[in-house]
Amino acid sequence: MKKAVIHLFLILTNIINAQIFDVEAIKITGDDDKRINLVILSEGYQESELSNFISDAQTFTSTMFAEPPFSNYSNYFNVYAIKVPSNESGADRPSTNTYVDTYFNATYEAFGKEYLLYYEVDGYSANNTEAKIFSVLADNTPNYDVGLILVNSPDYGGSGGSFPMAYNGDWGNNVIMHEIGHSLFDLKDEYYPGDELAAEAINMTQETNPTLVKWKNWINTNNVGVYQYTCDTGNCADWYKPHQNCIMEKIDKGFCSVCKEGIIAKIHELVSPIDSYTPISSTVEVSNFPIDFSLNLIKPNPNTLVSVWTLNNSVFANNLDEISLNETNLAEGENTLTAAITDNTSLVRINNYETINVHTITWTINYASLGIEDISSKENSFKIKMFPNPTSTFLNFKIESENQSNFKVDLVSIDGKKVKTATINTISKINISQLNSGIYLANIYANNVLIATKKVVKL
Ligand SMILES: [Zn+2]
Repeated sequence: MKKAVIHLFLILTNIINAQIFDVEAIKITGDDDKRINLVILSEGYQESELSNFISDAQTFTSTMFAEPPFSNYSNYFNVYAIKVPSNESGADRPSTNTYVDTYFNATYEAFGKEYLLYYEVDGYSANNTEAKIFSVLADNTPNYDVGLILVNSPDYGGSGGSFPMAYNGDWGNNVIMHEIGHSLFDLKDEYYPGDELAAEAINMTQETNPTLVKWKNWINTNNVGVYQYTCDTGNCADWYKPHQNCIMEKIDKGFCSVCKEGIIAKIHELVSPIDSYTPISSTVEVSNFPIDFSLNLIKPNPNTLVSVWTLNNSVFANNLDEISLNETNLAEGENTLTAAITDNTSLVRINNYETINVHTITWTINYASLGIEDISSKENSFKIKMFPNPTSTFLNFKIESENQSNFKVDLVSIDGKKVKTATINTISKINISQLNSGIYLANIYANNVLIATKKVVKL
Protein backbone atom coordinates (compact mmCIF):
# COMPACT_ATOMS: atom_id res chain seq x y z
CA MET A 1 0.00 0.00 0.00
CA LYS A 2 0.99 3.57 -0.30
CA LYS A 3 1.72 5.43 2.87
CA ALA A 4 0.48 9.00 3.20
CA VAL A 5 3.63 9.92 5.09
CA ILE A 6 6.08 8.90 2.37
CA HIS A 7 6.51 12.42 1.05
CA LEU A 8 7.72 13.70 4.40
CA PHE A 9 10.41 11.03 4.59
CA LEU A 10 11.42 11.58 1.00
CA ILE A 11 11.94 15.24 1.75
CA LEU A 12 13.93 14.38 4.88
CA THR A 13 16.05 11.85 3.05
CA ASN A 14 16.81 14.22 0.22
CA ILE A 15 18.52 16.38 2.82
CA ILE A 16 20.54 13.45 4.17
CA ASN A 17 22.34 11.36 1.52
CA ALA A 18 20.24 8.63 -0.04
CA GLN A 19 21.29 5.17 1.14
CA ILE A 20 20.61 2.71 -1.65
CA PHE A 21 21.05 -1.03 -0.98
CA ASP A 22 20.18 -4.26 -2.80
CA VAL A 23 16.54 -5.20 -2.27
CA GLU A 24 15.38 -8.79 -2.74
CA ALA A 25 11.75 -9.79 -3.18
CA ILE A 26 11.08 -12.66 -0.74
CA LYS A 27 7.33 -13.09 -1.33
CA ILE A 28 5.26 -11.27 -3.96
CA THR A 29 1.51 -11.82 -4.25
CA GLY A 30 0.56 -8.64 -6.14
CA ASP A 31 1.08 -4.91 -6.61
CA ASP A 32 2.57 -3.09 -3.61
CA ASP A 33 -0.30 -0.61 -3.55
CA LYS A 34 -2.83 -3.45 -3.10
CA ARG A 35 -0.92 -5.38 -0.44
CA ILE A 36 0.52 -5.05 3.08
CA ASN A 37 4.26 -4.75 2.49
CA LEU A 38 6.62 -6.16 5.13
CA VAL A 39 10.24 -5.10 4.72
CA ILE A 40 13.04 -6.89 6.57
CA LEU A 41 16.29 -4.98 7.16
CA SER A 42 19.56 -6.68 8.08
CA GLU A 43 21.52 -5.62 11.16
CA GLY A 44 24.91 -6.99 12.27
CA TYR A 45 25.42 -8.94 9.02
CA GLN A 46 28.70 -8.17 7.24
CA GLU A 47 28.77 -7.92 3.44
CA SER A 48 29.97 -11.56 3.26
CA GLU A 49 27.04 -12.68 5.46
CA LEU A 50 24.24 -11.08 3.43
CA SER A 51 23.39 -14.36 1.69
CA ASN A 52 22.76 -15.81 5.19
CA PHE A 53 20.50 -12.84 5.82
CA ILE A 54 18.42 -13.63 2.73
CA SER A 55 18.07 -17.23 3.85
CA ASP A 56 17.09 -16.04 7.39
CA ALA A 57 14.50 -13.68 5.83
CA GLN A 58 13.10 -16.59 3.79
CA THR A 59 12.87 -18.79 6.90
CA PHE A 60 11.10 -16.02 8.79
CA THR A 61 8.64 -15.53 5.92
CA SER A 62 7.78 -19.23 5.64
CA THR A 63 7.37 -19.48 9.44
CA MET A 64 5.11 -16.44 9.62
CA PHE A 65 2.88 -17.47 6.73
CA ALA A 66 2.44 -20.99 8.12
CA GLU A 67 0.94 -19.45 11.29
CA PRO A 68 -2.80 -18.59 11.43
CA PRO A 69 -4.23 -16.09 10.68
CA PHE A 70 -1.28 -15.08 8.44
CA SER A 71 -1.57 -18.49 6.72
CA ASN A 72 -5.20 -17.65 5.87
CA TYR A 73 -4.36 -14.15 4.57
CA SER A 74 -0.97 -14.94 3.00
CA ASN A 75 -2.15 -13.52 -0.36
CA TYR A 76 -2.61 -10.10 1.26
CA PHE A 77 1.13 -9.64 1.96
CA ASN A 78 4.35 -8.94 0.08
CA VAL A 79 7.74 -9.36 1.77
CA TYR A 80 11.01 -7.67 0.77
CA ALA A 81 14.51 -7.81 2.28
CA ILE A 82 16.95 -4.87 2.23
CA LYS A 83 20.57 -6.00 2.37
CA VAL A 84 22.15 -3.43 4.69
CA PRO A 85 25.78 -4.41 5.41
CA SER A 86 27.42 -3.76 8.79
CA ASN A 87 31.15 -3.41 9.43
CA GLU A 88 31.06 -6.05 12.18
CA SER A 89 28.75 -8.96 13.11
CA GLY A 90 26.26 -9.29 15.97
CA ALA A 91 25.01 -6.68 18.45
CA ASP A 92 26.37 -4.87 21.52
CA ARG A 93 26.20 -6.38 25.01
CA PRO A 94 27.27 -3.80 27.59
CA SER A 95 27.58 -6.24 30.56
CA THR A 96 30.43 -8.08 28.84
CA ASN A 97 31.84 -4.89 27.37
CA THR A 98 31.04 -6.16 23.87
CA TYR A 99 30.61 -3.32 21.38
CA VAL A 100 30.42 -3.96 17.65
CA ASP A 101 30.21 -1.52 14.75
CA THR A 102 26.80 -2.24 13.16
CA TYR A 103 24.58 -0.17 10.88
CA PHE A 104 21.65 0.40 13.25
CA ASN A 105 23.58 0.16 16.55
CA ALA A 106 21.54 -2.73 17.97
CA THR A 107 22.21 -3.59 21.60
CA TYR A 108 21.08 -6.17 24.12
CA GLU A 109 20.29 -5.07 27.68
CA ALA A 110 18.57 -1.90 26.44
CA PHE A 111 17.13 0.05 29.39
CA GLY A 112 18.84 -2.52 31.69
CA LYS A 113 16.65 -5.45 30.51
CA GLU A 114 18.71 -8.50 29.54
CA TYR A 115 16.59 -9.66 26.59
CA LEU A 116 15.61 -6.25 25.29
CA LEU A 117 17.34 -5.98 21.91
CA TYR A 118 16.92 -2.43 20.68
CA TYR A 119 18.54 0.16 18.46
CA GLU A 120 20.07 2.36 21.09
CA VAL A 121 23.58 2.57 22.57
CA ASP A 122 25.40 5.12 24.68
CA GLY A 123 26.16 8.20 22.70
CA TYR A 124 23.36 7.62 20.19
CA SER A 125 19.78 8.56 20.70
CA ALA A 126 17.13 6.10 19.57
CA ASN A 127 15.52 8.97 17.66
CA ASN A 128 18.54 9.34 15.39
CA THR A 129 18.55 5.63 14.65
CA GLU A 130 14.82 5.73 13.93
CA ALA A 131 15.39 8.54 11.42
CA LYS A 132 18.10 6.41 9.81
CA ILE A 133 15.72 3.40 9.54
CA PHE A 134 12.97 5.61 8.09
CA SER A 135 15.32 6.93 5.44
CA VAL A 136 16.65 3.48 4.47
CA LEU A 137 13.04 2.32 4.05
CA ALA A 138 12.00 5.43 2.12
CA ASP A 139 15.04 5.26 -0.19
CA ASN A 140 14.71 1.55 -0.97
CA THR A 141 11.11 0.36 -0.45
CA PRO A 142 8.88 3.47 -0.20
CA ASN A 143 5.64 1.41 -0.23
CA TYR A 144 6.52 -0.36 3.04
CA ASP A 145 3.87 -0.77 5.73
CA VAL A 146 6.11 -2.15 8.43
CA GLY A 147 9.89 -2.39 8.69
CA LEU A 148 11.37 -5.31 10.67
CA ILE A 149 14.97 -5.63 11.75
CA LEU A 150 16.63 -9.03 11.83
CA VAL A 151 19.77 -9.08 13.99
CA ASN A 152 22.58 -11.51 13.21
CA SER A 153 23.03 -12.97 16.71
CA PRO A 154 22.24 -16.37 18.28
CA ASP A 155 21.26 -14.86 21.67
CA TYR A 156 17.57 -14.53 22.51
CA GLY A 157 16.22 -10.97 22.31
CA GLY A 158 13.78 -8.62 20.63
CA SER A 159 11.70 -5.44 20.92
CA GLY A 160 8.52 -3.86 19.51
CA GLY A 161 7.98 -0.15 18.90
CA SER A 162 8.07 1.53 15.49
CA PHE A 163 10.34 -1.17 14.05
CA PRO A 164 10.08 -4.70 15.46
CA MET A 165 13.54 -6.19 16.03
CA ALA A 166 14.61 -9.76 16.85
CA TYR A 167 17.61 -12.07 16.89
CA ASN A 168 17.99 -14.65 14.09
CA GLY A 169 18.18 -17.71 16.39
CA ASP A 170 15.68 -20.46 17.20
CA TRP A 171 12.73 -18.40 18.46
CA GLY A 172 13.55 -15.20 16.60
CA ASN A 173 10.80 -15.75 14.00
CA ASN A 174 8.18 -16.08 16.74
CA VAL A 175 9.60 -13.01 18.51
CA ILE A 176 9.10 -10.98 15.30
CA MET A 177 5.50 -12.26 14.91
CA HIS A 178 4.81 -11.21 18.51
CA GLU A 179 6.35 -7.79 17.84
CA ILE A 180 4.36 -7.36 14.58
CA GLY A 181 1.31 -8.10 16.76
CA HIS A 182 2.16 -4.87 18.59
CA SER A 183 3.47 -2.71 15.75
CA LEU A 184 0.98 -3.40 12.97
CA PHE A 185 -2.05 -4.91 14.72
CA ASP A 186 -2.27 -2.96 18.01
CA LEU A 187 -2.23 -6.06 20.22
CA LYS A 188 -1.07 -5.83 23.85
CA ASP A 189 1.19 -8.26 25.70
CA GLU A 190 -0.76 -10.97 27.51
CA TYR A 191 1.90 -10.97 30.22
CA TYR A 192 1.60 -7.79 32.27
CA PRO A 193 3.30 -5.02 30.25
CA GLY A 194 3.51 -2.61 33.24
CA ASP A 195 1.22 0.19 34.41
CA GLU A 196 2.41 2.64 31.74
CA LEU A 197 1.49 0.35 28.84
CA ALA A 198 -1.71 -1.11 30.31
CA ALA A 199 -4.72 0.18 28.33
CA GLU A 200 -7.98 -0.94 26.77
CA ALA A 201 -7.08 -2.82 23.57
CA ILE A 202 -8.22 -5.70 21.36
CA ASN A 203 -6.87 -8.24 23.88
CA MET A 204 -6.75 -6.26 27.16
CA THR A 205 -9.57 -4.82 29.25
CA GLN A 206 -10.81 -3.87 32.69
CA GLU A 207 -14.25 -5.39 31.96
CA THR A 208 -14.71 -8.59 33.98
CA ASN A 209 -18.26 -9.55 33.01
CA PRO A 210 -18.05 -12.33 30.37
CA THR A 211 -21.35 -11.19 28.82
CA LEU A 212 -20.06 -7.64 28.35
CA VAL A 213 -16.38 -8.13 27.65
CA LYS A 214 -15.33 -7.14 24.09
CA TRP A 215 -14.43 -10.75 23.22
CA LYS A 216 -17.73 -12.10 24.64
CA ASN A 217 -18.48 -13.98 21.39
CA TRP A 218 -15.45 -16.20 22.00
CA ILE A 219 -16.05 -17.03 25.67
CA ASN A 220 -15.81 -20.82 26.19
CA THR A 221 -14.49 -21.37 22.64
CA ASN A 222 -10.83 -22.34 22.11
CA ASN A 223 -10.13 -21.69 25.82
CA VAL A 224 -11.05 -18.00 25.61
CA GLY A 225 -12.12 -16.58 28.97
CA VAL A 226 -11.59 -13.50 31.12
CA TYR A 227 -8.24 -14.03 32.84
CA GLN A 228 -6.71 -11.65 35.34
CA TYR A 229 -3.14 -10.52 34.64
CA THR A 230 -0.54 -11.43 37.26
CA CYS A 231 2.56 -9.47 38.20
CA ASP A 232 5.10 -8.85 40.97
CA THR A 233 4.62 -5.07 41.05
CA GLY A 234 2.04 -2.70 39.59
CA ASN A 235 -1.72 -2.60 39.14
CA CYS A 236 -2.07 -5.73 37.04
CA ALA A 237 -5.00 -6.95 39.16
CA ASP A 238 -7.18 -4.33 37.40
CA TRP A 239 -6.55 -5.86 33.96
CA TYR A 240 -7.82 -8.93 32.10
CA LYS A 241 -6.79 -10.89 29.00
CA PRO A 242 -8.63 -13.41 26.79
CA HIS A 243 -6.25 -16.37 26.94
CA GLN A 244 -3.48 -18.10 28.88
CA ASN A 245 -1.56 -19.56 25.94
CA CYS A 246 -1.25 -16.84 23.31
CA ILE A 247 1.93 -15.84 21.47
CA MET A 248 1.35 -12.34 22.90
CA GLU A 249 2.38 -13.97 26.21
CA LYS A 250 4.29 -17.15 25.39
CA ILE A 251 6.58 -17.11 22.40
CA ASP A 252 6.17 -20.84 21.59
CA LYS A 253 2.36 -20.58 21.16
CA GLY A 254 0.13 -19.33 18.33
CA PHE A 255 -2.23 -16.33 18.32
CA CYS A 256 -5.37 -16.82 20.44
CA SER A 257 -8.80 -16.52 18.76
CA VAL A 258 -9.23 -12.93 19.97
CA CYS A 259 -5.84 -11.82 18.63
CA LYS A 260 -6.51 -13.60 15.31
CA GLU A 261 -9.81 -11.75 15.00
CA GLY A 262 -8.07 -8.41 15.72
CA ILE A 263 -5.40 -9.10 13.09
CA ILE A 264 -8.01 -10.00 10.44
CA ALA A 265 -10.11 -6.91 11.23
CA LYS A 266 -7.00 -4.79 10.63
CA ILE A 267 -6.14 -6.63 7.38
CA HIS A 268 -9.70 -5.86 6.21
CA GLU A 269 -9.13 -2.22 7.05
CA LEU A 270 -5.82 -2.06 5.17
CA VAL A 271 -6.52 -4.09 2.02
CA SER A 272 -9.50 -4.31 -0.35
CA PRO A 273 -10.12 -7.90 -1.51
CA ILE A 274 -10.66 -6.58 -5.07
CA ASP A 275 -7.31 -6.77 -6.84
CA SER A 276 -8.70 -5.74 -10.24
CA TYR A 277 -11.79 -6.07 -12.43
CA THR A 278 -12.89 -5.82 -16.05
CA PRO A 279 -14.15 -4.02 -17.97
CA ILE A 280 -12.90 -0.74 -16.49
CA SER A 281 -14.74 1.11 -19.24
CA SER A 282 -15.38 0.36 -22.85
CA THR A 283 -17.54 0.84 -25.87
CA VAL A 284 -19.32 -2.29 -26.99
CA GLU A 285 -21.07 -3.07 -30.24
CA VAL A 286 -24.15 -5.28 -30.35
CA SER A 287 -22.15 -8.01 -32.06
CA ASN A 288 -20.02 -8.36 -28.92
CA PHE A 289 -22.76 -9.99 -26.82
CA PRO A 290 -22.56 -11.65 -24.38
CA ILE A 291 -20.49 -9.13 -22.40
CA ASP A 292 -18.23 -10.57 -19.69
CA PHE A 293 -17.72 -8.88 -16.32
CA SER A 294 -15.02 -10.29 -14.09
CA LEU A 295 -13.43 -9.79 -10.69
CA ASN A 296 -9.90 -10.71 -9.74
CA LEU A 297 -10.17 -11.16 -5.95
CA ILE A 298 -7.42 -11.56 -3.37
CA LYS A 299 -8.58 -14.83 -1.88
CA PRO A 300 -8.01 -15.96 1.68
CA ASN A 301 -7.11 -19.63 2.18
CA PRO A 302 -9.63 -21.25 2.47
CA ASN A 303 -11.60 -18.73 0.42
CA THR A 304 -14.15 -17.05 2.70
CA LEU A 305 -15.08 -14.20 0.34
CA VAL A 306 -18.73 -13.82 -0.60
CA SER A 307 -19.88 -11.91 -3.68
CA VAL A 308 -23.35 -10.71 -4.61
CA TRP A 309 -24.04 -9.47 -8.16
CA THR A 310 -27.05 -7.17 -8.51
CA LEU A 311 -28.49 -6.10 -11.90
CA ASN A 312 -31.03 -3.26 -11.89
CA ASN A 313 -31.97 -3.80 -8.20
CA SER A 314 -32.39 -7.61 -8.40
CA VAL A 315 -29.85 -10.18 -7.32
CA PHE A 316 -28.40 -11.68 -10.51
CA ALA A 317 -25.79 -14.15 -9.19
CA ASN A 318 -23.91 -15.17 -6.04
CA ASN A 319 -20.29 -16.13 -5.45
CA LEU A 320 -19.10 -15.98 -9.04
CA ASP A 321 -15.89 -14.29 -10.17
CA GLU A 322 -17.26 -13.78 -13.66
CA ILE A 323 -20.70 -13.27 -15.16
CA SER A 324 -21.95 -12.65 -18.69
CA LEU A 325 -24.84 -10.42 -19.75
CA ASN A 326 -26.93 -10.92 -22.85
CA GLU A 327 -29.10 -8.36 -24.58
CA THR A 328 -32.16 -9.95 -22.97
CA ASN A 329 -30.79 -9.13 -19.49
CA LEU A 330 -30.68 -5.41 -20.23
CA ALA A 331 -33.35 -2.73 -20.22
CA GLU A 332 -33.42 0.10 -22.75
CA GLY A 333 -31.43 3.04 -21.35
CA GLU A 334 -29.23 2.98 -18.27
CA ASN A 335 -28.54 -0.34 -16.50
CA THR A 336 -26.64 -0.78 -13.24
CA LEU A 337 -24.63 -3.89 -12.40
CA THR A 338 -22.94 -4.10 -8.98
CA ALA A 339 -20.69 -6.73 -7.42
CA ALA A 340 -20.47 -6.45 -3.61
CA ILE A 341 -17.69 -8.38 -1.84
CA THR A 342 -17.45 -9.25 1.88
CA ASP A 343 -15.36 -11.71 3.88
CA ASN A 344 -17.47 -14.22 5.81
CA THR A 345 -14.59 -15.79 7.74
CA SER A 346 -15.53 -17.72 10.87
CA LEU A 347 -12.33 -16.42 12.47
CA VAL A 348 -14.14 -13.09 13.04
CA ARG A 349 -17.04 -13.07 15.47
CA ILE A 350 -17.32 -9.41 16.39
CA ASN A 351 -21.02 -8.62 16.55
CA ASN A 352 -21.39 -6.34 19.51
CA TYR A 353 -19.96 -3.36 17.64
CA GLU A 354 -19.43 -5.10 14.40
CA THR A 355 -17.72 -3.43 11.49
CA ILE A 356 -18.57 -4.94 8.14
CA ASN A 357 -16.20 -4.01 5.34
CA VAL A 358 -17.92 -4.15 1.96
CA HIS A 359 -16.22 -3.43 -1.35
CA THR A 360 -18.24 -2.82 -4.50
CA ILE A 361 -17.74 -2.33 -8.22
CA THR A 362 -20.61 -0.68 -10.07
CA TRP A 363 -20.84 -0.74 -13.85
CA THR A 364 -23.21 1.62 -15.62
CA ILE A 365 -24.26 0.16 -18.95
CA ASN A 366 -25.92 2.45 -21.49
CA TYR A 367 -27.98 0.23 -23.71
CA ALA A 368 -29.94 1.17 -26.79
CA SER A 369 -31.71 -1.26 -29.07
CA LEU A 370 -29.12 -0.57 -31.76
CA GLY A 371 -26.35 -1.72 -29.43
CA ILE A 372 -24.47 -0.77 -26.30
CA GLU A 373 -23.04 2.71 -26.38
CA ASP A 374 -20.69 2.55 -23.41
CA ILE A 375 -19.88 0.96 -20.07
CA SER A 376 -18.33 2.87 -17.17
CA SER A 377 -17.23 1.56 -13.77
CA LYS A 378 -16.76 2.88 -10.25
CA GLU A 379 -15.16 1.28 -7.18
CA ASN A 380 -16.51 1.99 -3.71
CA SER A 381 -15.98 0.74 -0.19
CA PHE A 382 -18.19 0.85 2.89
CA LYS A 383 -17.52 0.41 6.57
CA ILE A 384 -20.78 -0.45 8.29
CA LYS A 385 -21.20 -0.62 12.07
CA MET A 386 -24.44 -1.99 13.49
CA PHE A 387 -24.84 -2.00 17.28
CA PRO A 388 -25.82 -3.00 19.91
CA ASN A 389 -26.64 -6.57 18.97
CA PRO A 390 -28.58 -8.20 20.61
CA THR A 391 -30.88 -5.27 21.41
CA SER A 392 -34.39 -4.75 22.78
CA THR A 393 -35.06 -1.17 21.60
CA PHE A 394 -32.74 0.69 19.25
CA LEU A 395 -30.39 -0.47 16.52
CA ASN A 396 -27.68 2.04 15.57
CA PHE A 397 -25.97 2.26 12.22
CA LYS A 398 -22.79 4.09 11.38
CA ILE A 399 -21.71 3.96 7.74
CA GLU A 400 -18.57 5.38 6.18
CA SER A 401 -18.22 5.25 2.41
CA GLU A 402 -15.80 6.57 -0.17
CA ASN A 403 -18.55 7.99 -2.38
CA GLN A 404 -21.94 9.52 -1.68
CA SER A 405 -24.65 6.85 -1.43
CA ASN A 406 -28.27 6.55 -0.26
CA PHE A 407 -28.67 3.84 2.36
CA LYS A 408 -31.67 1.75 3.32
CA VAL A 409 -32.14 -1.16 5.69
CA ASP A 410 -34.81 -3.87 5.49
CA LEU A 411 -35.40 -6.09 8.52
CA VAL A 412 -36.60 -9.50 7.43
CA SER A 413 -37.97 -12.14 9.81
CA ILE A 414 -36.69 -15.70 9.75
CA ASP A 415 -39.72 -16.76 7.66
CA GLY A 416 -38.85 -14.20 5.00
CA LYS A 417 -41.34 -11.40 5.80
CA LYS A 418 -40.13 -7.81 5.54
CA VAL A 419 -41.07 -6.37 8.98
CA LYS A 420 -39.45 -2.97 8.82
CA THR A 421 -37.81 -0.74 6.24
CA ALA A 422 -35.97 2.46 7.01
CA THR A 423 -33.86 5.01 5.18
CA ILE A 424 -30.60 5.39 7.02
CA ASN A 425 -28.01 8.14 6.97
CA THR A 426 -24.35 7.82 7.80
CA ILE A 427 -25.40 7.80 11.48
CA SER A 428 -28.90 6.50 12.22
CA LYS A 429 -30.89 4.94 15.02
CA ILE A 430 -33.93 2.81 14.28
CA ASN A 431 -36.50 1.74 16.84
CA ILE A 432 -37.29 -1.98 16.78
CA SER A 433 -38.96 -2.18 20.21
CA GLN A 434 -42.33 -3.13 18.62
CA LEU A 435 -40.89 -6.26 16.92
CA ASN A 436 -41.34 -9.71 18.45
CA SER A 437 -38.30 -11.25 20.09
CA GLY A 438 -36.25 -13.42 17.76
CA ILE A 439 -33.72 -13.44 14.97
CA TYR A 440 -33.97 -11.08 11.98
CA LEU A 441 -31.81 -10.36 8.97
CA ALA A 442 -30.79 -6.76 8.31
CA ASN A 443 -30.40 -6.28 4.55
CA ILE A 444 -28.41 -3.13 3.93
CA TYR A 445 -28.70 -1.36 0.57
CA ALA A 446 -26.61 1.41 -0.99
CA ASN A 447 -28.35 3.13 -3.91
CA ASN A 448 -30.89 0.26 -3.91
CA VAL A 449 -28.17 -2.38 -4.25
CA LEU A 450 -27.88 -5.04 -1.56
CA ILE A 451 -24.38 -4.68 -0.13
CA ALA A 452 -24.58 -6.59 3.18
CA THR A 453 -26.77 -8.91 5.24
CA LYS A 454 -26.29 -9.25 8.99
CA LYS A 455 -28.11 -11.16 11.69
CA VAL A 456 -29.87 -9.10 14.38
CA VAL A 457 -31.05 -10.60 17.66
CA LYS A 458 -34.11 -8.79 19.12
CA LEU A 459 -34.44 -9.44 22.88
ZN1 LIG B 1 -4.05 -13.26 22.32
